[in-house]
Amino acid sequence: TYVVIDNCIACKYTDCVEVCPVDCFYEGENMLVIHPDECIDCGVCEPECPADAIRPDTEPGLESWVELNRKYAEVW
Ligand code: SF4
Repeated sequence: TYVVIDNCIACKYTDCVEVCPVDCFYEGENMLVIHPDECIDCGVCEPECPADAIRPDTEPGLESWVELNRKYAEVW
């Protein structure tokens, strides 16, 4: 699963949403998030993000972002 981190805050681009094959991006409070149960881990969105805000959730130190992506995504 990929996660969106703070670089996304206030970013106005939606390139990631357009390329995601399973439409698993959702609106969080002030950023986009990825639904962890819907993401198929294809990695297509990562290089498309102009804000460099998309990371694999296996990267160390991202625990709070993993949690926040799930929290915001599950509202939908
Ligand atoms: Fe969508 Fe693939 Fe990015 Fe997951 S890794 S959010 S499935 S584009």
